[in-house]
Amino acid sequence: MMRLRREADRIRVSGPRGVDFPVAGPTRTCVGCRERAPARKLVRFVATGSGDDLRLLPDPNRRLPGRGAYLHPDPACFALAERRRAFGRALRLSGVVDTGPLAEHLRTVSVPCGNDR
Ligand SMILES: [Zn+2]
Repeated sequence: MMRLRREADRIRVSGPRGVDFPVAGPTRTCVGCRERAPARKLVRFVATGSGDDLRLLPDPNRRLPGRGAYLHPDPACFALAERRRAFGRALRLSGVVDTGPLAEHLRTVSVPCGNDR
């Protein structure tokens, strides 16, 4: 496929994650490790609900409305974000937010660190 070949030409994945390598397309910042990455390598999520019934919803198709934030599909980044309360800050939430649905999603899509396809 043409698309694959072009990406292989343009993306250099020689260094550790987050190194400023040339990429095609937009980049986003992971709310966990705060590194920038191509948006398509990150999981978008949004907050739904209101008041004290807030939860984080993964948005793999990037279609959900509202303010979104991005996270590596990596449990380590999730844990970091949770510890620093980065979810609430990134999405401008006040109060407790249920991270369960997002955590569940990450378990199914996570890739081992360093295995950068
Ligand atoms: Zn990360």
